[in-house]
Amino acid sequence: MFYIKTKLPSGKVIKTEITDESVYTHCPGCGREFPVDLLEVFSGEGDLFSTRIVCSECTKKHFEKQKPAMEDIVLLATALCRLGYSKQVLRLYDDFGISAIQELESQDYSAYADALLSAVAEGGAA
Ligand SMILES: [Zn+2]
Repeated sequence: MFYIKTKLPSGKVIKTEITDESVYTHCPGCGREFPVDLLEVFSGEGDLFSTRIVCSECTKKHFEKQKPAMEDIVLLATALCRLGYSKQVLRLYDDFGISAIQELESQDYSAYADALLSAVAEGGAA
């Protein structure tokens, strides 16, 4: 068990256990608070202090403005995996008949990004 110790102005110390449901972050785009899966963050190349995770709504808005490029798709899939959606991301590989994102044809980028976002909206974190 890991926990956070916080010293209150009164001098009282409170301990908060870190669980898979107690860690939140703010989206750097809209400021919305949402839960993150720390295990997923650490399983990527991220570290606790420099990782900024954009919420799915802001990611969606980003793609409504411009056609996604390969880097965008990779970033989106990575972000969703960090948020705990790796199962949904991997399932879409099957749907699109690919074994890696890099195999996607450029005309499928938009469809893939849409599919990713709707899988997340429907399924919730696994
Ligand atoms: Zn946001």
